[in-house]
Amino acid sequence: MKMILLSLFVLVTLNPIMIPAADLTNSAADSLSTSPRADTAVIAGADSAAQSNFIYPMPPERMAKLIAYSRFNNLWRFLDFFISVVILLIIIYGGLSARLRNWASKISSKNFFVYFFYFIFFMIVMYGLNFPFDYYRNFAIEHQYGFSNQTFGAWFGESLKSLGVGFVFGFILFLILYWLINRFRKWWLAFAIGSIPFMVLVIIIVPVIITPLFNKFEPIKNKELGAEMTALAGKAGIYNPDIYEVDASKQSSKVNAYFTGMFGTKRIVLYDTAIKNFTVNELKFIMGHEIGHYVMHHIWYGLFLGVVFIFIVFYLADKFLPPMIERRKNRIGFSRLGDIAGLPLLLLFVTVFSFIFQPIQNTASRYFENQSDRFGMQLSGVTGDEAATAFDKLSVFNLSDPEPSALIEFWFYTHPALKKRMDNVRKLYNELHPGV
Ligand SMILES: [Zn+2]
Repeated sequence: MKMILLSLFVLVTLNPIMIPAADLTNSAADSLSTSPRADTAVIAGADSAAQSNFIYPMPPERMAKLIAYSRFNNLWRFLDFFISVVILLIIIYGGLSARLRNWASKISSKNFFVYFFYFIFFMIVMYGLNFPFDYYRNFAIEHQYGFSNQTFGAWFGESLKSLGVGFVFGFILFLILYWLINRFRKWWLAFAIGSIPFMVLVIIIVPVIITPLFNKFEPIKNKELGAEMTALAGKAGIYNPDIYEVDASKQSSKVNAYFTGMFGTKRIVLYDTAIKNFTVNELKFIMGHEIGHYVMHHIWYGLFLGVVFIFIVFYLADKFLPPMIERRKNRIGFSRLGDIAGLPLLLLFVTVFSFIFQPIQNTASRYFENQSDRFGMQLSGVTGDEAATAFDKLSVFNLSDPEPSALIEFWFYTHPALKKRMDNVRKLYNELHPGV
């Protein structure tokens, strides 16, 4: 499951843009920042992994783990899709969605409350059916591979918090969507245009209101390092940058960093796990990479792609779904697209469409990542080997496959394969410093 029910509506549709997805690697299936998983120092059981030579080169047991974890993740990408589809089909064809709508309309005859209660019921059903899979992927597996030592209670608490957040954002979108469907013939056009200010607003508020519900964001504790990072931002023309250290180790030992926000909430976030385990020069390269996203306005391009995606997927939904509903109306218990009981059908359509077309968005994303790697090399001035070591560490710490199959990379990876990036930064360094 993509993270909990934010995925439900908001994220299935508006996915790549709004989430300050941990940026540096392809965090499999769990990229949503509101709920990164796992805990620190589990790696090799070392307290100060940075000083320990244990990790580099990767010991054979760790390599075996990496291979097993990567295989699992590749399989899970398909299973996850399959599970989502089956759950939605059950809700639609079991007539459950129609029943939920009927229950909601028994509670109140006012439209708003029918929508409200239907959405609550629907979220609870989705959450319940998804829960075993969510638990298995994001709790059990992350513990098994030593990324997490969060207690079940802490994990479950965050899961419920995500559900709450998902409810608020999801309900607003749900109201707007069905209001438009029931009033305008070209509702898909209105929804795509209307989603622009909505997404902008969400990107603005998520880093200040939502992510702090899950983690603590503070200025970088190591003052010297903080000054280095600020100076680097200054070199790129960003003065008074917001640079945060987040206590990501609370959930996972995975290392990462990201850039997010818009207008006044733009910020670069470094995981405490990265700060602890990376050298200053490695962090400078990572910082340079994130500054690249910042100054090249990648969030806006991502948003643009998201809007185009919404436009196309809902346009097609408007063409294809009504005849399908008409043929099956007795079975499914709703007869028009504007009936809220059709929500799972709409979600199913979006899920399938996203799965098929994600290579397009991912190809664009990998292009932006490449640009940022180049920018990071230019700005940070670190050597090719130092930058390559940063990628090497990402692979070792996060158990991410440096050389996935071409098809897996093309279809699922938001970032180029780590091996390619390592080769690339070495080449870039030679380009930037001819004759060295
Ligand atoms: Zn990036």
